[in-house]
Amino acid sequence: LAFTVPTDEPAAETASPADSDCEGEFCDMKESSCTTRDLIGSTPLLDLSAYSLNPTVKILAKCEYLNPSGSIKDRIATHILDKAIKSGDLKPGMTVVAATSGNTGAAIAMACALRGYDYIVITNEKTSKEKVDAMRAYGGEVIVSPSGVSPDDPQHYQNIENKLCEENPGTYYGVDQYNNPYNADAYEATLGPEIWRQSVGAVTHFIVGGSTGGTVSGTGRYLKQENPDVRIVLADPRGSVFWDHVVNGVAADDVKVSKSWETEGVGKDSIPGCLDVSIVDGMVRATDEQAFGVCRELASSDGLLVGGSSGLNLHASRVLSGDVADDSVIVTVFPDNGVKYLSKIYNDDWLDSKKMGGAKNSDGNAERAA
Ligand code: PMP
Repeated sequence: LAFTVPTDEPAAETASPADSDCEGEFCDMKESSCTTRDLIGSTPLLDLSAYSLNPTVKILAKCEYLNPSGSIKDRIATHILDKAIKSGDLKPGMTVVAATSGNTGAAIAMACALRGYDYIVITNEKTSKEKVDAMRAYGGEVIVSPSGVSPDDPQHYQNIENKLCEENPGTYYGVDQYNNPYNADAYEATLGPEIWRQSVGAVTHFIVGGSTGGTVSGTGRYLKQENPDVRIVLADPRGSVFWDHVVNGVAADDVKVSKSWETEGVGKDSIPGCLDVSIVDGMVRATDEQAFGVCRELASSDGLLVGGSSGLNLHASRVLSGDVADDSVIVTVFPDNGVKYLSKIYNDDWLDSKKMGGAKNSDGNAERAA
């Protein structure tokens, strides 16, 4: 299943019970067991070349939904909190505050549970009930703000985080995932190297949707350091501001959402500080129906239950595969688990209510800008 390669490291030898110096029947289990933290990262690279429009072009997806809180965001939550604790910005007894479309909230909640911090996460009404419930399940507070409000509205989830932190200096620590440089750094340190190693340096294209821009920027930075010819492509839901900014050159201060979209966790209403536009070589955009259609296809044909941005990423990879040189290797990401969207993408009544019944059986064409 996984497209993995041997590393230079010799295979770990398994000690036989006779070699072991510990006593008791759980000896071997002790040696092979791990902590919650060890479950983060080192995800498999799944071969989905069956979705490629060119039989010589590979499509590989990092299974980030296998991280312990169910998404890629465990990588940044761990990195950001560890850095903040080390620098002294986050001290024992403080409360961690994070604005989130849901996955960072669950990841921060998990990271706080492991480190003994209280947390408040702020999301908006667009976030699925499953994600809101998960954020609460780790024992903290969740604020749900209105969706669709303008980025300068005090009710906007990012402004609520800023206000809470301003009002509680020294007590609240704001994650500020949209501008925190440790967000992209986490991917430069982990996801980029994993992709490089697992593809044996054969990756030619990295394509992924963005919200904070951390994944595309940090991973792209690492891959381009290894091979400047690797092309970095941003996938985006229609309506999000990234297309106008990156493709049409509209200034960050002037961008506006052209229409709302349903694919959670990707696309944005403003240009985040974490997005390094200079790293992006091209874009593919797609509709919610196209993204959700691929999700449904993955579930029914491949036994994979993943979130809407995974559908967007695979749909965009498929479009890209029809447009690149023979023998290219496209790597993408499956950021989160489909269980987070059972009431939406995988619910026929919900799809019908949003006039996206076509997603139950889809084949679409996304729009591409080189
Ligand atoms: N997919 C999902 C499901 C997400 O929650 C996020 C983050 N909001 C992304 C993709 C995009 O990742 P990034 O914030 O690193 O751009």
